[in-house]
Amino acid sequence: MSNDVLVIAEIRDGAPKKISFEMLGEGKRIAEQLGGSIQAVAVGHGIGDAASSLAHHGAEKVFVADDSTMENYTAEGYTNVLVKLIEQTQPALVLLGATTTGKDLAPRLAARLGVGLASDCTALTVQDGELLLTRPIYAGKAIATVKEAVRPHMATIRPNIFAAPEADTSREADTESIPTDPGDIRAKVVEMIKEAGDRIELTEADIIVSGGRGLKAPENFALIEELAGALGAAVGASRAAVDAGWKDHSYQVGQTGKVVTPTLYIACGISGAIQHLAGMKTSKYIVAVNKDPEAPIFKVADYGIVGDLFKVVPVLTEELKKMMAEA
Ligand SMILES: Cc1cc2nc3c(=O)[nH]c(=O)nc-3n(C[C@H](O)[C@H](O)[C@H](O)COP(=O)(O)OP(=O)(O)OC[C@H]3O[C@@H](n4cnc5c(N)ncnc54)[C@H](O)[C@@H]3O)c2cc1C
Repeated sequence: MSNDVLVIAEIRDGAPKKISFEMLGEGKRIAEQLGGSIQAVAVGHGIGDAASSLAHHGAEKVFVADDSTMENYTAEGYTNVLVKLIEQTQPALVLLGATTTGKDLAPRLAARLGVGLASDCTALTVQDGELLLTRPIYAGKAIATVKEAVRPHMATIRPNIFAAPEADTSREADTESIPTDPGDIRAKVVEMIKEAGDRIELTEADIIVSGGRGLKAPENFALIEELAGALGAAVGASRAAVDAGWKDHSYQVGQTGKVVTPTLYIACGISGAIQHLAGMKTSKYIVAVNKDPEAPIFKVADYGIVGDLFKVVPVLTEELKKMMAEA
């Protein structure tokens, strides 16, 4: 068993997603404390540049599983490749993103390896040589710190919690190709359909503007989209707005939607039900616009505007546009 930390990189369109770099930064800190190195594994097809990018962001060793059979993610195929690598290299800790793919892959991988899994971690610490993993539980009502009994320890990491290290293109890593036998896959990807437009991925967004039932009608989401446009932000929605059919489920923030941790979260016409807070409470700054001064969203907001969103949001958008133009 080594003291190395292995980051399972997430690659999209030939490049690692930001969460991969965030894991490399935090993984390196832990590896240093454990006395090991920081490593990454990239699985996909035509991912040579992605492997270099992982090295630029701190990976000391990069394992590459590059083959046409790995082009599309499948839980079974990727697990078969990764289990072999982990059994062979015996890292102390394996990190995956708490993303849609990571949440699908990590439990299967942990089960195959017979180890525990701490999901959606927001802090990692080493105390007396032991790794402690911190994660919100009960929809964010409590924080649990867990110690896994069996090695390799395994965790998924909430996106946007840890800083991604700056890229240094002079940095190189020892690169090793690994076998890509997907094994006997029972489910295969027939077609991948991309969402229309260049929508900013909610879980990766630095700024999110969300709308709720207070918008009263689907066409009023235009107000949210305009404010988001002025800030270069992603658009989110409460479940009430999604259930009403105003936005599709991919926009939903919350316990049964996406968990987001942007620098700035602006909630407009959202009451702040516990299930919504579970998805955005760890945002760095929260701004709420609500006409009800007693709305629970104000309990978590850093800045609150009590007022009619139909009056407040257009003014906010105009002022922000002016500020951004001057900046
Ligand atoms: C198992 C379970 C899972 C759930 N998962 C989620 C989830 O993932 N995400 C989620 O969001 N919810 C979730 N919910 C639903 C949640 O409990 C709430 O019902 C929902 O979040 C309410 O959405 P809302 O705040 O938009 O609507 P409301 O609670 O109806 O709030 C609307 C707000 O708009 C304000 N408002 C109205 N008009 C104006 C105006 N003109 N200007 C300013 N403010 C105005 C009102 O004061 C009010 O506070 C879940 C519920 C359950 C039971």
